Amino acid sequence: MPTKIFGIDLRKSSIAQDRPLAVQKRNSTHSVVELSPPSMDHIKRPSIAGLGKKHSDKKEKDRSLSKDKHAKDGSRALPQPKPVKLTMIMESPPALFIDPPNQSTGALISGRLQVTPNAGDVVMNSIVMYLECTTSTKRPVQDRCRECMSHVTDLYEWNFLSKPKTFHEFDGMQELPFSHLIPGHIPATTHGQIGSVDYSLHVRARTNDGKETESRRDLVISRALRPGNDKNSVRIFPPTNLSLHVTLPNIVHPIGDFPVQCRMTGITTKREDSQVRWRLRKLTWRVEEHESMISPACAQHAAKVGGEGKGVQHQHDRDIGAEEMKQGWKTDFEDGQVEGELTVGIGSSKNPQCDVEAPNGLKITHNLVLELVIAEEWAPNKKPQQATPTGAARVLRTQFNLSVCARSGMGISWDDEMPPMYEDVPASPPHYQNDHTSVMDYTGNDLHEDVEQLTLNR
Ligand SMILES: [Zn+2]
Repeated sequence: MPTKIFGIDLRKSSIAQDRPLAVQKRNSTHSVVELSPPSMDHIKRPSIAGLGKKHSDKKEKDRSLSKDKHAKDGSRALPQPKPVKLTMIMESPPALFIDPPNQSTGALISGRLQVTPNAGDVVMNSIVMYLECTTSTKRPVQDRCRECMSHVTDLYEWNFLSKPKTFHEFDGMQELPFSHLIPGHIPATTHGQIGSVDYSLHVRARTNDGKETESRRDLVISRALRPGNDKNSVRIFPPTNLSLHVTLPNIVHPIGDFPVQCRMTGITTKREDSQVRWRLRKLTWRVEEHESMISPACAQHAAKVGGEGKGVQHQHDRDIGAEEMKQGWKTDFEDGQVEGELTVGIGSSKNPQCDVEAPNGLKITHNLVLELVIAEEWAPNKKPQQATPTGAARVLRTQFNLSVCARSGMGISWDDEMPPMYEDVPASPPHYQNDHTSVMDYTGNDLHEDVEQLTLNR
């Protein structure tokens, strides 16, 4: 059954898929999933004239596998002088998609392939370059099986020669220009904890007497979203009167700090002669990275997951930034609110990834989790400074989606002079999401001593 990934024909039945169906949870970290049939017409891949070798039957799978085998064979064989030297000059800036996958207009790449005869005149039968996408999993269905571990697909190919061409030594290096508009819906280069997506330009040049020269160059593709208005969210914590107002940037970047404004209202409840109020004792923020990936089984190991067209879903969650604060906010019991600004950072040492969602099941998202420990106290209205702790304490927990993307830097979309392709969605009004908040009893005996030892249970 032909399948499709990233808009191109894969023609290998069980490997890359559009999207999973029927997830059966086995345990918390992985589950067997059905992989769906293709949902889009596949693009016919042109035949590779003159690239005989082991993949002469032109089967997609064989061809992509033959590259690795070829590399292995090459390392064992005695070094032979290559008939030509292949080098590449990229002329386009680093490939950067602007906007999300469903809106991006893609990235233009252009460059020159340089071909230099090494010894004498040489007749080249073919010079072909592939834009390759390699998806890999660190949790293959079968340990150490290369076919379970990674899959190579061709997104585009350039056939530089329509007929054999003689490269004269006298002429020296000759340049073959190339360019391509990489479609903006494909995932950016990603190196997750489980899954990765890499792109490369792979050149194969073949002489009329069958000698082959290869060259490969990594192509890093990033995705940036346009900065927009800050996002305002309000979270409520019934049965208390507390409301937490949070303002976040609409996008953040993997390395660096960003400000988060917090204001909690409803902390004071006044009665006739006295008042009870919540005092913020501790605030913890944490940035979580959630990654999921479907490891497909190769044809040979399909039985391990219950047949072809199935894979195993893996999940990996980790913290990529966290901080505890016990001060730094402003409390106003008269107004009944406490406010402050957090500086939230995602550390480079964690190799944080950008958000991604790929057709093969790789998905990375981020959350900002806030936890606030509040302690209740009582005070007479006449002397509000003379407060007495009541002993009650609560832990408030809430979280927010973080949109993590690359910095656009000086990069602008290649079509920036054209009308924008994206819908300029206005900032949404504050919304109430009780699903995302929780209030828990604080169970320590004496908050004043115990707060130092508080840990967050996840
Ligand atoms: Zn396998």
